[in-house]
Order: sequence, then structure tokens, then C-alpha cells
Amino acid sequence: MAENCVPLDFLGDLRRTHTCGELRASHAGSRALLMGWVHRRRDLGGVIFVHLRDRDGVTQVVFREDTEKTVHQKAELLRSEYVIAVEGEVTLRTPDTVNPNIETGEVELVADKLWILNDSRTPPFPMEDTVDVSEDVRLKYRYVDLRRPLMQRNIMLRAKASFAAREFLSSQGFLEIETPYMTSSTPEGARDFLVPSRIQPGCFYALPQSPQIFKQLLMVSGFEKYFQIVRCFRDEDLRADRQPEFTQIDLEMSFVRQEDIMEVIEPLVQAICRTAGYELQLPFPRMTYEQAMRSYGSDKPDLRLPPFYTVEDLFPGAMLTGEGLPLVAIVIPKAGGISRKERDEWKAFGAERGLRVYDDVKRLDRDYPGPMAEVRARTGACPEDLLLLAGWTGPAPAHRPEHAVLQACGQLRLQAGQKYNDKHKLLDPRDLRFAWVMDFPMFEWNEEEGRWEAAHHPFTSVHDEDLDKLSVDPEACRAKSYDLVLNGVELGSGSIRIHRRDVQAKVFQALGLSDEDARVRFGHLLEALEYGAPPHGGIALGLDRLVMILSGENSIRDVIPFPKTAKGTDLMCGAPSPVSEQQLRELGIALRRR
Ligand code: ASP
Repeated sequence: MAENCVPLDFLGDLRRTHTCGELRASHAGSRALLMGWVHRRRDLGGVIFVHLRDRDGVTQVVFREDTEKTVHQKAELLRSEYVIAVEGEVTLRTPDTVNPNIETGEVELVADKLWILNDSRTPPFPMEDTVDVSEDVRLKYRYVDLRRPLMQRNIMLRAKASFAAREFLSSQGFLEIETPYMTSSTPEGARDFLVPSRIQPGCFYALPQSPQIFKQLLMVSGFEKYFQIVRCFRDEDLRADRQPEFTQIDLEMSFVRQEDIMEVIEPLVQAICRTAGYELQLPFPRMTYEQAMRSYGSDKPDLRLPPFYTVEDLFPGAMLTGEGLPLVAIVIPKAGGISRKERDEWKAFGAERGLRVYDDVKRLDRDYPGPMAEVRARTGACPEDLLLLAGWTGPAPAHRPEHAVLQACGQLRLQAGQKYNDKHKLLDPRDLRFAWVMDFPMFEWNEEEGRWEAAHHPFTSVHDEDLDKLSVDPEACRAKSYDLVLNGVELGSGSIRIHRRDVQAKVFQALGLSDEDARVRFGHLLEALEYGAPPHGGIALGLDRLVMILSGENSIRDVIPFPKTAKGTDLMCGAPSPVSEQQLRELGIALRRR
């Protein structure tokens, strides 16, 4: 509803001649008809200036009382976000009025015709890159929020990134093939979103957590190279930057090894990053999971910070750490000379994770001059750097104790890097450090349930030389799996799949999945493996996350057109919402209190 009653014009036969980002000095003297939104309006009495905006940019439009009285009068009605068409002559601005901040800044359109196509209520916040308003308000009025130039850039970058992915993969012989959204449970390990069937009361579809099974079936069907830019649904517990539905660039290939998949992904990622102006150097560094843990204490290392070093061998006996456990030397460049209080903070941070942090390097130098000289040589620590040593206190954890220590040290390294980032610029968001982490353990110990579970998913191949260990030593089995990481974020993961029915049975056995359970959950895939399944493998990359990093945003919500809040709510349309009694009845559903 308009706040002032403005007579509106019809679009009729009007056609735009240019976009609002197009006019340049070379157009001066010609006529143009532009359409867009009133971004800003300045009324200087006899002259009204309007910044007219469309998705392509902004052009200054001038309405002069002395030459075009009626048009000027009509322009007095204009307010922010009115939708208008204007026609006039493109005119050079005088040198002192050139606006270098907009691409059309050398010219303006002197309007002699104006059509008001629609009015607008006063928007809930201005159409600026930075707005002082809560995210909830932005999400409630998302259609207005998306008009802000920053959001337009983000969504356009997303579109370009998707297009680059499609273009690259198609050029490499991949076929874009759709898989169903209404299906049965998939193997990613989160909770499913369920869709009740009306026609078969009491039965439910599951929304796919990934197209995993279908893409494997497509390999069995002989398509050889599949991809899809696909929505996935995971009903996970709330975490700050997770979305219940998110988008993956999903692919699968037949007759491949791990390296073959990586060699496709690297130029794919290069092509996508190029859309945001980055030129990546290939190949990306590769490391095994073991190396990542030993050097970074993480399976998604942030390579912008230097690695840490294990130094327990320099201190004989279990001098500073638990028996047989790592002692880790962490270096944070340029961050030395911290206060007593900060040192205590690091001690406390470590203690919460079972670590003893040795922050008093002077004292260590005095007590252990020889080993400490070696520590410096090994780590390359300079006097201006922060050097922390961390060992384990208390009893060693039951499973993979070494990893538990390294992981805690990894958190310390990252936390210290983040803390001193502001001052020392250690984590430049424009420094894109991709890496591959390969050969993950096949199984992870589920402490709560007291059993092994698949570290990736249960269709992941084990290394050929570890096949015999499946039943006797699952902890030692390595998977043919690989993650692509970027600046400490897991961007995607994939694996070579099991293509033999006998091997799949052994893996299910190791996972404690009975034949019957396996048949109920994944029977169709298991059967398909019996009909000539080729060796195959694939990967999925998180598009939201990648675009977030490329656009320099901190939240995936800023690169998803219509995201949900951290509580899974769509504030604009109010989903999820109760449904009518009638709908429930049709579905044969009765609600009960939890
Ligand atoms: N389906 C896996 C996922 O969504 C990716 C893959 O293995 O290709 O994480």
C-alpha cells in the first residue's frame, strides 16, 4: 500500500535502452530510457537529483524545473524505492561534479520524460552495503534486503560460480543428471527430514542428505561422469552457521583413483575462484590425515598459520608430556612478548582440553638449554614470535590417544592465531590456502554408543593393503577418502567407493551392521553392486561455503538467497508452521506431545 497516493503509469510499450550501469562518456549526446528503483533523491528546489538503481549499477538522473516543468513536478512525488522509467539525454557532467565512485559517474541523464511504475512503502532499512539493523529484520524483509548492492553482488557471484562449475564440468564430459528429492534414507549419518505420504498412510519419504546412493547407481548404469548442483537436507542440531538445506556441487566418476578425482576438482575450483578474481596456483598441497594431525592437529588445517612440530624426542623420558604422547611446539608469528594475563589465559585454554601449556619460554631455556635450542631450530621460531609448548596431563584417552593430544594442540594453535590476527594480520581472508587431506581413518570410535562408525560413509573403500585388517584391527584401516580444505574449513569430501559386494559386506560387518539392517537400509545399492558395478568414486563440494569465502562474508546466510535462521526458521514466510487438522487427517497423522 502506498503511503502517499501517487498516480501510477503503465509500462505499455516502454523498452529499456540501457541498464543503469551502462552509460559512459561515449554515450553523451544520445538518448536513453532507463528503468529501476529510486536509490536516493536530493531535492535542491529547482533541480531534483535521483540515483536510479538496477542490478547493473546506478545512474544519476536530473529533473530540471526550468526546462521540463511538469516532469520536474512529477519527480517531486518520488520517494526511495519507487520503481520508475525515465527518458532523456545523456549529458557529460562538469569535471567538478564527476562521481568517481560509480561507473557511470562521468555522465547523467537529463530527464524529459518520467513514468512512475510503482510506489513503495518506506523500506525497513536503507539500500546500503552496511545497515544498522538486526539480521532478523533483514530476513523478514529478505526481498528488500536482497536489493542491497552487497547482497546483489553476493547472489550474482553465486550464480557465476554455479555457471563456471557447470561450464567446466560439462566441458570435461560430465553429464548433469537429476536425482530425486523424495526418496528413502541416505547414508550421511544426520537425521532425515521426512515427508509423509498421503496415498500410503503411515509411510514417509526422506529428503536426501546427499545424492550419494543415486550417483553410485548412475555409475552402475554406465554414465561414467555425473554431476549435479544439488540441494541436500540434513536435520542436524542447531549450529551457528549450518542450514537445514544447503547446496553441493556433487560428482561421481567411474574407473578412477583418488588422484583422478583431485585432478578434476583442482581446475574446477580454479575456474570457480576465477569468477571472484582469484587466480589459484595448481596443484593444491596434499597431505595424509596422519600428516595433517601431526603438523596441524586438525583434519582441516588452516595453512595460513605455520605448522606445529612434535618435539617429545628432544626431551628424554616423559619429561613434559604423558608417557608416549606428543609434546608440541606451537609458533605464532610476531605474537611474542604477551602479558602475564594472556599467558595465564593460554594455560587455562589448554587445561580445559587436558593440555599442560608451557608458556614461560625463558624458564624452559634455562632448564633445558640444549633441547630448547633444538626446538627453535626445528620450528624456526624467532624472538618476536610466540612460542608455546604443550603436553598432556592426566590419563591418556582410550582411543587414538596421540590424536587427542594433537587435536587439542591444534585448537590451541588456531585459537592463538585468531586471537593475534587483528594485531598481526595472520589470517588474511583473501589468502586462499587450499589443501587436500587424504587417507582418513576408515572408522571413528563413537564414545556414546561404544562402537566403530564410518568416518566418511559406509560405502567408502578401504586401502587395498588394509582390507585384511577390517575385522581384526579396524582402528588401523585407512580409507580411500579425501577432503578439500580451505583456510581451516572443510569445503568438500569424497571417496573411492566400494564396488564389490563382498567387500561391502565386510565393511558392514566391521560397522556392526547386520545383513538384515543393511538390506533394509541400502538393499537396492547392495543388489546393484551385484550387477557389474564399475570401480568408481566421487566428491561433493559445499557451494554455500565456497561462495561465502569468495565473497568475503562470514556467514553462509549472506550468500543464500532465502536462508533459515540458526533455529531453522524462515522468518519471511514463517516456515515451519502448524498445518490444518484437515491436512493432518488426510495424511493419517495425529500429533502427540513430546
Ligand atoms: N555424499 C558425500 C557428502 O555429501 C560426498 C561424497 O562422498 O561424494 O558428504
